[in-house]
Amino acid sequence: MMAGLLLARAGIETLVLEKHKDFLRDFRGDTVHPSTLEVIHELGLLDDFLKRPHQEVHQIRGRIGGTEVTVADFSHTPTHCHFVAFMPQWDFLNFLAEHARRYPTFQLKMEADVTGLLEENGRVTGIRANTPQGELTVQAGLVIGADGRQSAIRAAAHLEVQDLGSPIDVLWMRLTRKPADPPQSLGYFNFGRALVLLNRDEYWQCGLVIRKGEFDEIRAKGMPRFRQDVARIAPFLADRVDEIQDWSQIKLLTVRVDRLRQWWRPGLLCIGDSAHAMSPVGGVGINLAIQDAVAAANILTGPLKAGTLSIEHLRAVQRRRTFPTKVTQQIQVLIQEHVLKRVLGEDKPVVAPWPLRLFNTFPVLRRIPARLIGVGVRPEHVRTPRAT
Ligand SMILES: Cc1cc2nc3c(=O)[nH]c(=O)nc-3n(C[C@H](O)[C@H](O)[C@H](O)COP(=O)(O)OP(=O)(O)OC[C@H]3O[C@@H](n4cnc5c(N)ncnc54)[C@H](O)[C@@H]3O)c2cc1C
Repeated sequence: MMAGLLLARAGIETLVLEKHKDFLRDFRGDTVHPSTLEVIHELGLLDDFLKRPHQEVHQIRGRIGGTEVTVADFSHTPTHCHFVAFMPQWDFLNFLAEHARRYPTFQLKMEADVTGLLEENGRVTGIRANTPQGELTVQAGLVIGADGRQSAIRAAAHLEVQDLGSPIDVLWMRLTRKPADPPQSLGYFNFGRALVLLNRDEYWQCGLVIRKGEFDEIRAKGMPRFRQDVARIAPFLADRVDEIQDWSQIKLLTVRVDRLRQWWRPGLLCIGDSAHAMSPVGGVGINLAIQDAVAAANILTGPLKAGTLSIEHLRAVQRRRTFPTKVTQQIQVLIQEHVLKRVLGEDKPVVAPWPLRLFNTFPVLRRIPARLIGVGVRPEHVRTPRAT
């Protein structure tokens, strides 16, 4: 959506295809980081964005065993906004779509499920999609695959995937939020579990991190044990875990971390999770996808307008975004392997390790994760013109 907005804004005919009929699905993160807010500011849309319902989270805290640790403090990020905005991703996508629609060059087609690529002499020339009205084919000067971690486009293009492995999955469920609850989203680590709570006003969106493949084991132990586990990690939820009556209320989200060796083919470029599926660790995947979109628009707008697009331009996008992708994924894999795997391994009370407790003793340290999470490596800035 961001790539579509930027290209249409620069005067390029752009069509965004989305397979669902709305963006109302809850299996997405809610985080809009300072780097993304900076892009929104550069587009002149920040005031409007901040008028929409959202929460501003200035610090990220976690409860590790009995100790609360503040691990990131965004007050010094070199950006206009010194906070992470929590906004359900459907509201964020609707916001972007609303602004993109102001450009006559932008079109959004919902319920268009891309199933394959059109090709001529080894060059991708468009896509094929299923719609309620039947099959749709679209010819395009460039196809951008931004269809997430189960990308149909990357599969159809036979792009080689490097799997970096992930030892975790996430169970996704809702529990009522009550007025006396903690106001902000928080992570809890204890008794062999990690639980992340996203504040969505009237309910908590809960993400329970489990060992990959452990869901069958959890189900076999039964629902009462599962509820007890959740209440043990976050005791304030004990009075409502009974709301989970059935396993169908719990969705298993499979986590994968991988990236393409080559993000492009002539006529095609993959960005975001389609090029590099991100772990939920650090909640940075959305923002990395947006940074890819900004870089792609910066590099491709000129050649697309001039009709001179070549594989050199597509290669340039990959070259620009590979370093931030590799660094971020490496940190995610490190945390998955050395922190989460260890926490998830042992069903006993956790004690916050001393390096983490240093964040409470020396608050200045919180600026480092804030910078990595909030801004990331090689932040992108909007360089594309706005067509008159
Ligand atoms: C459990 C979990 C929690 C996460 N939490 C966070 C978080 O809090 N913050 C964060 O920054 N990141 C989080 N991430 C990572 C984040 O979700 C991704 O990195 C990010 O969504 C990637 O954005 P994207 O636009 O590339 O893909 P997506 O957000 O997956 O968007 C892809 C879009 O393409 C559409 N689509 C898919 N297939 C087709 C098709 N064939 N035809 C047409 N349309 C199609 C989809 O419906 C979707 O709208 C989480 C990941 C997981 C697994």
